[in-house]
Amino acid sequence: MDFTLYWFMFPVSICVATSAMLSGIGGAALFTPIFVLIFPMLGPQYALATTMTAIGAALLTETFGFTSGFVGYYRRKLINFGLAKPFLGIAVPIAILGAIAANHVPGQVLIAGYAGLVLVLAFFLIFHEKQHVEHATLSRGNNIATATGAFMTGMVSVGIGEVIVSQLTKRGIPVGVAAATSVLVVIITVAFASLTLVLQIIQDGGANAMPWNLVCWSIPGVIIGGQIGPLLQGKFSQRGMELSIATLFFVLSIAMFFVAFTRPAMAEETITWPNGATVAVSLSYDDALDSQLDHAIPALNKYSINASFYLTLAHPSVYSRLPAWRAAAAAGHELGNHTIYHGCSAGKPGREWVAPHLDLDKRTVADVVAEVTMANTMLHAIDGRESRTYTPPCSDEMVGGENYLDVVAPMFVAMKSRDEGMPTGSSLLFFPSGNTGAELIRMVTEHRQSGALVNLLFHGVGGDHLSVTPEAHEELLQYLATNRDIYWVDSYINIMSYVRDQRSGN
Ligand SMILES: [Zn+2]
Repeated sequence: MDFTLYWFMFPVSICVATSAMLSGIGGAALFTPIFVLIFPMLGPQYALATTMTAIGAALLTETFGFTSGFVGYYRRKLINFGLAKPFLGIAVPIAILGAIAANHVPGQVLIAGYAGLVLVLAFFLIFHEKQHVEHATLSRGNNIATATGAFMTGMVSVGIGEVIVSQLTKRGIPVGVAAATSVLVVIITVAFASLTLVLQIIQDGGANAMPWNLVCWSIPGVIIGGQIGPLLQGKFSQRGMELSIATLFFVLSIAMFFVAFTRPAMAEETITWPNGATVAVSLSYDDALDSQLDHAIPALNKYSINASFYLTLAHPSVYSRLPAWRAAAAAGHELGNHTIYHGCSAGKPGREWVAPHLDLDKRTVADVVAEVTMANTMLHAIDGRESRTYTPPCSDEMVGGENYLDVVAPMFVAMKSRDEGMPTGSSLLFFPSGNTGAELIRMVTEHRQSGALVNLLFHGVGGDHLSVTPEAHEELLQYLATNRDIYWVDSYINIMSYVRDQRSGN
């Protein structure tokens, strides 16, 4: 886990907690959209694995955000514990139920639920009238409001704080005591809800599934913000704060509805990797190069790491060093299909080297499909295996203006560059060339949000084209081998077979 990744959340959290304090709104209402909307925009390495992870991290942060307020009210003896009890009796169990329910509904539903709730909140902030203090008893309607607020808090992080204060002030409780008591109810409810969410996240994905590297910045931020908030109280008009938060909620609501209906699936589909690993890494080596036999395979074998070698079967090494390729397969590496002749589209920039008879712009789909089929037969003759994966030469998908990958897809367990079955945004491709060991390691460490698949597509290792040095390559292998609890490194066919099995529920 890269603990510096979310450093910017420290100042951001101070600001969020300060404005939440000034407007009387639960801070999680603002953290959830930052985690769900803004993080994926910053880059794939910032995206949290699931919507539930985002809500869990927001609620955990909010628990601490309220501690400053709680301590302050407690010292001033404003908290009425007897008054809080009936609320807690309803709110705590129902918030736990909401948190458990969150685990069983799709992320889009959580996002839409959040969007609906902040929309209601925005209207409430704009149109509510100053509470008229009059006596009333705790009615059934109030219980339903408390229960609904608690359930929504457990599920989408917003709700409980918003319903308690208005109920207490309606009953004639002085505003100071009402606010103090509501903070007690909120902090206990939110603590139970976040604990339930965090435990489920850890149970499903291991201890590393919880973004500790995020909350280690957001929690200190809200604790400090909670101290600044009261100091600024009275410096801004409460009404002005309410209206600006209402406007913000309005915008957030629209954005979150948009995400709920357009983003295909953020995460409930997260893949969990074997043995508690959070990231799968596929190392692959294209074009059947001699330097791979000379340097890559001995290093991989030294660290007992399985990889995939995509053979261009017309490459001289397949003829001259056939026993070495066979031995690689016997050692556990995958020999993948990279066609026989490595045809590419000559029309793209920098493709002067493509021979005219291998130009995919001029060939037909039937021609290329026949070549790929024959390559499978030859690979079967080499390693005796029945199934394998494919890497399209030059990552080209079109032949004569038609997509040929759709036609050859049924012949393979999976194809590099497509990673079918992986949730959107969770698989990444890198083409190392001339990188140092530290840079190669960064490619895997920077994208270790849980459930990710990182593909490193190598060519030469200590020779040939697009090469990296054997030292840089070995540095990466050594790092991966000593961090097997985080990284599951295996051949592409093994990783994608695992993804397929998980998808079909085997
Ligand atoms: Zn290639």
